Amino acid sequence: MDNDPRSPLFDPQLDTSHQLSTSRLPAVLPIEAIGWHQRLVVNPLVAILSSLAGVALIQHALRTRNLALFGTGVGVLFLSLLLIQFHCRDCGATGWYLHASRHACAAVVARWRQNVLARAGWSARTQLLVWSYVMVFGLLGYAVFTLSRM
Ligand SMILES: [Zn+2]
Repeated sequence: MDNDPRSPLFDPQLDTSHQLSTSRLPAVLPIEAIGWHQRLVVNPLVAILSSLAGVALIQHALRTRNLALFGTGVGVLFLSLLLIQFHCRDCGATGWYLHASRHACAAVVARWRQNVLARAGWSARTQLLVWSYVMVFGLLGYAVFTLSRM
C-alpha cells in the first residue's frame, strides 16, 4: 500500500495513516475511550452536605406543614446529585462529575496515545456507584432512625 499523497495509488478516503502521522491530535477524541486512561477520585462531600440540607428542609417542612418548603427540600435533595465532584490525580484539577468524562489533561492524553490503561484503583464510575449506595442507604437509615423516634 502506498501512503504517499503524491502517488497515483493514494486514496485520501482510504489512506489515512499519512494524515494521522502529520497531525498531532486526532480530529475526534472518543470520549468513552478516555475514561480508561483517567485517574480520577470522586468526591461527594458537597453533594452530601447539600443533601443533608435538603433532608433538614424536608423535616422542617413536615413539622410545620409547609408545602413550598417541602418542595424546596425535595428539589435541593435531587439537585445535590449534580454537586458530586471529581479530582484528577494527574493534574490536580477539580470539577463537577458531569464533566469528568471530558477531562483530558496532558497525562491522560499521553496514556490514551500510548494505549496504557490507568487502573490504579476503582474507576470513577465504580466510585460514583459506591458513593451512591452509601448516600442512599445513609439517607434511608437516617429516615428509619428518625421515624422510629417519633
Ligand atoms: Zn487531569
